[in-house]
Amino acid sequence: MKRKEITIGYDELDYNGLTDAERLLVDEARQATQRSYAPYSHFRVGAAIALDNGVIVPGSNQENAAFPSGTCAERSACFYAHARYPEARFKMIAVAARGTDGEFQAEPVAPCGACRQALLEYETLAGAPVPVLLVGREKIYRLPSVASTLPFAFSEF
Ligand SMILES: [Zn+2]
Repeated sequence: MKRKEITIGYDELDYNGLTDAERLLVDEARQATQRSYAPYSHFRVGAAIALDNGVIVPGSNQENAAFPSGTCAERSACFYAHARYPEARFKMIAVAARGTDGEFQAEPVAPCGACRQALLEYETLAGAPVPVLLVGREKIYRLPSVASTLPFAFSEF
């Protein structure tokens, strides 16, 4: 038997510690929470994806009375980004959320497993790590890549 371990390193920063490009993406993700449609969970999530063509594509969670028909902010952003700009490559992703009290979550919010899997495919297409910013009220986690959020990802390629 061999015991193996996976270590994931990430940075914890505050807003002022971010680069200008990171701040812009965090702002877009936070603004995207305003466009969430979450009448059931009241958990408003916003995502923003920076593309290599200079465009930032926002997304927000879109719920539905038939619950499985809704989707998360991250997938609404990445599917729209690739549908609209199929030639563009992802450069960076930010995710923010507001809870039922309307305030931004104190702790950085992370994508669900399905979104990590979906985002990973676009990182693979990009051919380079796509940093992920998980945004809390004060602190922000900067992960080096989507892959770092999803050890043992499903992959056919
Ligand atoms: Zn998700």
